[in-house]
Amino acid sequence: MKKGISTNPKVLLCTTYRRFPRDYTTIANAPRRVSPGLRFIKQNVPEVEILEYPRWNQYAAKLREGWDVVGFSFYQNEIDQIGKMAAEARSQGVRELWAGNYGALDYSIPSLVDRVFIGPAEDDVAQVFGYRVRQEDIQHPVMMAQYSVIPGIRTLTLGLLYTAHGCPYSCSFCQTPVFDSNRFTINLESIERVLRYYKKHGVAYLFPMDEIFGIYPKFTDELTRMFARYKFRWWAQSRASLFMHNLDTWHERGLRIPSVGVESMIQGSLDGINKRQKTDEILEFCRRTREKKGMFRISYSMIGHENLNAEQTLEDASLLRKADFDAHAVSVITPFPKTPLWNKLSASNAIFDRKFSHYKLRHLVWNHPHISPAEMRYLLIYIESRLNSTFKFIHKGISRFLWGGLRQDGPVIIWRSLLKGPVAAAFVDDRKQVFF
Ligand code: SF4
Repeated sequence: MKKGISTNPKVLLCTTYRRFPRDYTTIANAPRRVSPGLRFIKQNVPEVEILEYPRWNQYAAKLREGWDVVGFSFYQNEIDQIGKMAAEARSQGVRELWAGNYGALDYSIPSLVDRVFIGPAEDDVAQVFGYRVRQEDIQHPVMMAQYSVIPGIRTLTLGLLYTAHGCPYSCSFCQTPVFDSNRFTINLESIERVLRYYKKHGVAYLFPMDEIFGIYPKFTDELTRMFARYKFRWWAQSRASLFMHNLDTWHERGLRIPSVGVESMIQGSLDGINKRQKTDEILEFCRRTREKKGMFRISYSMIGHENLNAEQTLEDASLLRKADFDAHAVSVITPFPKTPLWNKLSASNAIFDRKFSHYKLRHLVWNHPHISPAEMRYLLIYIESRLNSTFKFIHKGISRFLWGGLRQDGPVIIWRSLLKGPVAAAFVDDRKQVFF
C-alpha cells in the first residue's frame, strides 16, 4: 500500500455503475445484479464494504463518506465506466485505487490504478488488515440471480455457486487459465451452509458458475451428492466429455440444464482454437442427453472462426441446428488480453478496434480474413434468430423440461417450476447482502 495509509484502512469495493435503473448485463435472461467476486471477498474479509451496481449518484454519495481505498471489480467492456469512476474517486481525495476481476487483465489498467489483483483476492485483501485467508478456508457467500423465461418477469430464483477455480485446458480465446492460474476448490462445509440458506428461502434450482464443472472428480462427487441430498435441480456448464463421463450419475443427482461449450461443429475450427474436443463428442452428448427426461440442453457457440467464410459459417450453424440442442448462446470470437488469441492477433497488428465497449462478444474487433465487421454483425443476428425462435424455446421448454420433468420427477416439477419457483422469485430480494 501507499505510504501513509493506515493499517486498518476504510476499503470500498464496487462494480461498475448503472446508467439507468434496469441497466444490468443480462446473461441467459438472468440480469447480473450481484457481484460473485465481491461477495466472496466480503464473506471472507468482513472489514471491507461492497457496492454492487450502484447508480452514479449512489456511487458519488458513497465516496463522500471518505475512503482510504476504492477498488473496482469489472469486465473488459466496462473499462470506460471504471475510468470515470476512478477519476471521481481521485477527485474526492481517495488515496489508493485497486482493480480486480477479468477486466483487470487489460494492459491499460496498471496505469489507471495503484494495485491490480489477478485471480481470487481474498487472501491479498485480508493481508491489508493484517491476517491471512488460506485457500482451504475460503468461505462461500450467498449470491442469487433472478431468471426470467419472459424477459422482465421473474420466473425463478437461481442459487448461484462458484465451487472450483481454474481450468487445465488452454482454448486460445479464453482468459480463465491466465486469470485463475491457481487451481483449487471451495470447501464443502461452507457450500453446504449456503445450500441450507437457499433451501430455507425456497430456492429450487442451483447454478454453479464454474467455467468447467466437474474437473475435480472426487470433489464433484461429494458436491453433487450434496445437491441431491437437498433435492436441488441444477444447471451446469462444462465440456461435452465431462458431461458424457458423468451423465447418468449427474442426471440422477439433479442435473437438468447442461450447457456445453460447443464453439463449432467443424473440426478444423475446433482445432484452430485449441479446443481439444471432437465434433463426435458433441453429437454423442446430444444423442445421450435427448434420452434423459427433463433435461434442457444449451449450446455455447462462436462465429468468426478464422478458417470459415460467411457461407461456411452458415453451414456450421446449420450443423449445430441439426445437432438438436434446446437453446443456443452465440458469440463472436473476440481476442481478450493475455489470451493466446490476443497474443497471436496483436503480433500481426490484426486488432483494429480497441473500443472497450465492443469487447462483449458481439463485435468483430480484428481483421478476419474473409468476413467484415458489418457482415459478422449480420451473421450473428441471422444465426441467433435461426437457432432460437420463441416458438422453439416454448415448445422445447414445455416438452423437454416440463413434460419430460413430469415423467422423470412426477408432479413435484409443477410445484417446483410453476408454483414455488415464481412465488419464491417474487419474494426473494436477490440484491440483499447476506453474510454469515
Ligand atoms: S473455454 Fe472452458 S475448457 Fe477452454 S480454457 Fe476456458 S474454461 Fe477451460
